[in-house]
Amino acid sequence: MTKTVHHWIGGKPVEGASDRWGPVTDPATGAVTARVALASAGEVDAAVAAARDAYATWGTSSLAQRTAVLFRFRALLDAHRDEIAALITAEHGKVHSDALGEVARGLEIVELACGITTQLKGELSTQVSSRVDVASIRQPVGVVAGITPFNFPAMVPMWMFPLAVACGNTFVLKPSEKAPSPSLRLAELLAEAGLPDGVFNVVQGDRDAVEALLTHPGVDAVSFVGSTPVARYVHTTATAHGKRVQALGGAKNHMLVLPDADLDAAADAAVSAAYGSAGERCMAISAVVAVGATGDALVERIRERAEKIKVGPGSDPASEMGPLITADHRDKVASYVTGAAADGCEAVLDGTGLTVDGHENGHWMGPSLLDRVPATARAYRDEIFGPVLCVLRADTYEEGVALINASPYGNGTAIFTRDGGAARRFQLEVEAGMVGVNVPIPVPVGYHSFGGWKDSLFGDHHVYGTDGIRFYTRGKVVTTRWPDPSEAPAGVDLGFPRSH
Ligand code: NAD
Repeated sequence: MTKTVHHWIGGKPVEGASDRWGPVTDPATGAVTARVALASAGEVDAAVAAARDAYATWGTSSLAQRTAVLFRFRALLDAHRDEIAALITAEHGKVHSDALGEVARGLEIVELACGITTQLKGELSTQVSSRVDVASIRQPVGVVAGITPFNFPAMVPMWMFPLAVACGNTFVLKPSEKAPSPSLRLAELLAEAGLPDGVFNVVQGDRDAVEALLTHPGVDAVSFVGSTPVARYVHTTATAHGKRVQALGGAKNHMLVLPDADLDAAADAAVSAAYGSAGERCMAISAVVAVGATGDALVERIRERAEKIKVGPGSDPASEMGPLITADHRDKVASYVTGAAADGCEAVLDGTGLTVDGHENGHWMGPSLLDRVPATARAYRDEIFGPVLCVLRADTYEEGVALINASPYGNGTAIFTRDGGAARRFQLEVEAGMVGVNVPIPVPVGYHSFGGWKDSLFGDHHVYGTDGIRFYTRGKVVTTRWPDPSEAPAGVDLGFPRSH
C-alpha cells in the first residue's frame, strides 16, 4: 500500500489526528491500493471552522470575483477530464468512457454556476404603494455540508458545490470513503483556479464524520445523496438540528414498454440503462414492465444483447461493463439471482460466478436477467444496485402504471411507445420525479433540476438547476419608501399597513 488519501482543509492537504483509516480498493483486482483518513469530530470541527472563517469574506464577495474563479475552474476541469476519469475508474471500477461521461455531466453544473450572475438578479416592483418599492433578493445560507455516495465520486459533488459556492456559501464535502480521491483532485483544481482558502474543504470519513456534520452548530445546510435509509436518517437528524436539508435516496426505476413500441430500440435502451456502470446508477433501469403479448419477444431481444456485453477492467478500452464496488456488495447482488427461483422468478441470464482472466480477485458479476418476476419477489422489492434486470408482465397500460405507482421509490421512470397520447397520459399519471419518453435515463440537463419523489427524496428541493439555487440561497424582501423632499411627514397611523 503506497498512497494515503488525506483531508483538504483551509486550502491544503491535512492528515488529521483521528488515526482512523479505511481501505481503498481497486474493484478490478480486489487489491487495496490506498488508505483513506477517516475523520472524527476534531477534523470536522477544523473543516467547519475553516469554512466559517472563509464565509466572512466569500459571502460578501462580488459576483464578478466568484464567477472569475468558476470560469478558471471550468477550464481546468475540461483540461483534466481524462485524469479525473482515470481516478474514478481506479476506485469505482466503471469503464473509462462512462467515467468521462460522469465528468462531463459535472462540468455541465460548473457551466451553470459560471452564469450565476443572471440567476441571482432578484426581482423589483416599483411604486407598489405611494413612493414605495419592493425588492426580493437572495442571499447565501452560510456553511453547506455535502455528503455523497460512491457511485459518482466526481459528478455528485459537482451537483452541489459549484452552485453553493457561486451563491456565496462555503462548503465542506464528505465524499464516499470507497472512492475518495476524485474529490481531492477537484479541491486542488479549485485552489489552482484561485478559490480562497477555506471556501471548499473535504473531510474524508464514514458515519462518524456524517454524524458530526449533521449535528454541528456551524453547519447551516446539508445536501445528501445516497441510499434511502441513510437519506431518511440524514433528513430527520439534520432538520432536528435546525438545518435546511435536501436528501436524495435510492431508486427502483421502471421502464414501461407498450406493445406498439419499437422493440429493438426498447431492448437497446433497457440493456444500456440496466447494465451501464454495472447497474450502480441511481437512474439505472432495474425493472422493465412489458405490457401485452410482445413481452416474450422483448425479453428475447434483451437476452441476446445482454449476453454479448464484455465485462472486464474499466481501464481496458475493450470493456463495456466493469466490476462491482466491493466483494461484499457483489455477493449481495448475486444472492438476488441465486434466490430468484424460490421467489417465483425465471432466471433467463445468470451472471453469478463470472471471473475475468488475469483479474481473478476482481468483484465480477455478469449481466443477469430475471423474467416473470412477481411484485412480491425480493429482487423486485429491494434496490439491488447491480447488473440485475427484472422483467414484470402486465396485461394493460393501467396495470403497468399501477405497478410503478405502488413502488415506494419514485426517482426516474420511462415509457417506450409510438403512441403520443399514451406517453402524454403517462407523464401526468406516473408518480416519479423524472420521466423519460423513449429516453431510458432521463437525467435532466443542468438548468433543469434533478430529484425524485417518495422515498427517493427527503426535503423540498431537488438538486441543481433553479431548485439548487433556491436551496443554496435565502430569500429576503426589502420594502423601501423614499419620501419626496417637498412632502410633509405622514404622521402616526396605528392601522395595519396597506397599499394605496
Ligand atoms: P450510502 O447511503 O451507503 O452512502 C452515502 C454516504 O453516506 C457516504 O458518504 C457514506 O459514507 C455515508 N453513510 C453510509 N452509511 C451511513 C450511516 N449509517 N450513517 C451516516 N452516514 C452514512 O450510499 P452508497 O452505497 O455510497 O451509494 C449508493 C446509493 O446511493 C444507492 O442507494 C443509490 O440509489 C443512491 N444514489 C442516489 C442518487 C440520487 O440522485 N437519488 C444518486 C446517486 C446514488
